[in-house]
Amino acid sequence: MKIQLLPSTFDAQGVANLEQRLTCFVIDDCVAVDAGSIAIALNNEQRSKVRDIIVTHPHMDHVASLPIFIDDLYPSLKEPMRIYATEEVIGLLERDVFNWNLYPRFSDLKNDYGPVMEYIPIPIGEPFRVAHLNVVAVPVNHIVPTVGLVVSDGQKSVAFSSDTAETEDFWKMVNEMRGLDALLIEASFPDRLSKLAHVSRHFTPATLGQELRKLTHNGMDIMAVHLKPSYRDEIIGQLNALNIPKLRVMEPGRIYEW
Ligand SMILES: [Zn+2]
Ligand SMILES: [Zn+2]
Repeated sequence: MKIQLLPSTFDAQGVANLEQRLTCFVIDDCVAVDAGSIAIALNNEQRSKVRDIIVTHPHMDHVASLPIFIDDLYPSLKEPMRIYATEEVIGLLERDVFNWNLYPRFSDLKNDYGPVMEYIPIPIGEPFRVAHLNVVAVPVNHIVPTVGLVVSDGQKSVAFSSDTAETEDFWKMVNEMRGLDALLIEASFPDRLSKLAHVSRHFTPATLGQELRKLTHNGMDIMAVHLKPSYRDEIIGQLNALNIPKLRVMEPGRIYEW
């Protein structure tokens, strides 16, 4: 399985910046998990192939350019953009984003080929199919309804924590997965901002280190993501000090294979 965390911004020479401001992972060039930078950083091949998007929660850094992406492709979409999310998250997207005020309600619109956007409600704790992938979603502990995911292609499995603080169901799901290859987990704030992390329901390196003790098997790669750009170096220093084998910071733009 090939996974890329899309860059959020590029410098004047077009080189991807390492700071992650927006969240969008692309799996095998065709399925997206969240859509923060989807209209900004997909290559042309990905742009022509990504038609399945899982939205873990409706925070702006995870959906910022989703409306623009659908708008960009509007006349050329030969199949609807499929948005997979829980009923709660679909309700929030319809109320707060695709509401005819912030942006058009694309789920009501058609182009020459048919509907341009379709919601697919996802179950909690039950496997569902997204393109060639099997996915299981469980709630995590964030300030709005949010799911963590395990995604499998039949050979390899990767878990995505999404945005979360201390949580239980996600670890239960991860622990039940035999042969998990990678865990992509958030580390938003440095330890000195633990109060802010607590009220906004995010991890610091210290709470992340505590949570990883809930893992009953190890050996998988652990990729830290969602480091707030203002504190990136500080968070990386604290993650390194945890001395957890196989814990690395995921680089935007780079393609990882599992
Ligand atoms: Zn969030
Ligand atoms: Zn976020």
